[in-house]
Amino acid sequence: MKTTFYQRLVNRQAGVTRSVSIHHIGRLAGTLFLLAFFLAVPLSCETEENEIFPDAEFVYEIHFIDVGQGDAILFISPDVTMLVDGGTRWGGVTGYLDQQGIEEIDIVIGTHPHADHIGGLIAVFENYTVGEVYDPGVIHTTLTFEDYLRAIDEYEIPFTVARRGMERTLGDDVRMTILHPPDNPEGSLNNSSVVTRITFGELSLLLTGDLEMEGELELISTFDNLQSTILKAGHHGSYTSSTTRFLNEVKPEVSVIMCGRDNQYGHPHGAALARLESASNEVYRTDLHGHILIESNGYEYTVTTSMNESE
Ligand SMILES: [Zn+2]
Repeated sequence: MKTTFYQRLVNRQAGVTRSVSIHHIGRLAGTLFLLAFFLAVPLSCETEENEIFPDAEFVYEIHFIDVGQGDAILFISPDVTMLVDGGTRWGGVTGYLDQQGIEEIDIVIGTHPHADHIGGLIAVFENYTVGEVYDPGVIHTTLTFEDYLRAIDEYEIPFTVARRGMERTLGDDVRMTILHPPDNPEGSLNNSSVVTRITFGELSLLLTGDLEMEGELELISTFDNLQSTILKAGHHGSYTSSTTRFLNEVKPEVSVIMCGRDNQYGHPHGAALARLESASNEVYRTDLHGHILIESNGYEYTVTTSMNESE
């Protein structure tokens, strides 16, 4: 049984028992028996979840916020709230954060200085308590980038240049690793994107900003293990990203493409979409599905969207 995103929000606020559809059965429940059990008896309330997994509360949330053409990803765990990119200035990220009751954000990552990633972060710095900022430390000569730097300065937000190999433990069972860029990043701004892998429980999330083929090849040649449960596909589903070689390493179960409806770039490009669809169990798109919410207990997860594909 599938419910819409807003039904879920309403139900949650009203304290109504929620129904969830299980898209993935994690390692602990990996037997055919349990698979059959879940398929036959969709989980219908928190109590049932808890009876099956004693500590199975869905405490992790990943919000792929529909900001039109741009990226904005909110990761929430019991110990940390993190925002990776904020869409454009006009993408509506703050409206979404307000709707979610967010007041403080521990970590903000601006993956690279393009306006569709950092534009919305300016209002985030102005309106929320932000603990610290990471970005690739590369320069872009635009007013938006200037305003972004000025806001970090004005609100005295601690700033770290993200570099390959940095690791942070973010409370129990959550770990953040910066996979890219290396020292002295070369090439395009897209290929300077901060790439972050977050592990939570037994699952993982790979956020690649606008990384393109060159950057993907560098990741492959640097890291033995890129496997990630959930992939935010690079550069809005452009054909220049999501190469087969890269996807073969990541082996995503769920891939998410973040792009605007009828955007001027034609994202996602057909070739990239086909590669993502063949490499992933499921592909979600903000242009078709709106906001995409993944909730997890660290070994299983549900996916809820604010729009049906056909809407
Ligand atoms: Zn972009």
